Amino acid sequence: MKPLTILITLATAIMLNSCSNSIKNYNGMVNIKEIDPSIQIDLRYKTTNNITKKPLYPYNMPALLRPATAKRLANASKLVKKSGYRLKIWDAYRPQSAQIALWNASGKNPNFVADPYNNPSLHTSGVAVDLTLAFPDGTPALMQTDFDEFSKKASPHYKHPNPLVRRNLRILKDAMDQSGFLYINSEWWHFLDKDYKQYSIIPSIQ
Ligand SMILES: [Zn+2]
Repeated sequence: MKPLTILITLATAIMLNSCSNSIKNYNGMVNIKEIDPSIQIDLRYKTTNNITKKPLYPYNMPALLRPATAKRLANASKLVKKSGYRLKIWDAYRPQSAQIALWNASGKNPNFVADPYNNPSLHTSGVAVDLTLAFPDGTPALMQTDFDEFSKKASPHYKHPNPLVRRNLRILKDAMDQSGFLYINSEWWHFLDKDYKQYSIIPSIQ
């Protein structure tokens, strides 16, 4: 190997190493924005625009996921771009305290909110994500309901009369499916890493 080649190889190795080291670790999770800056983040539980009408997360909390889950999400992000969209995140990692507040606000309805005492949410393990589609400028795509609408229209099996809404859901579901996520029958926006069983809960990031 020529000295210049050796030098370039060495410099590349150092660069790659420093890149992976610069990803901040949050109790075994990573910030989605650091993995894929093109993903839009709108954590609803940081705002009053959620079912509790109160912010449940600190104002500076990033959208966090397990590294392998975030990698899968970055793949889904790449796929939806082919249809002219980007991903928009409504929720990712959820501390246990927030899960308890949601459980209480939902009227303790296990169909829509996981019982934090008996069946902890997979959001609290950093392997579940709530998301929708948006246009590159951030305008939300037309979907069948808003986030956290607890009705039969929230089901991914609901046949919306508007074909554009049905198409958007199909684009989202296909991208997530092809990237290794599972969906649930009650909430079209909720997906979980297919390897979720490997992980346990992280009560808080403090
Ligand atoms: Zn969810």
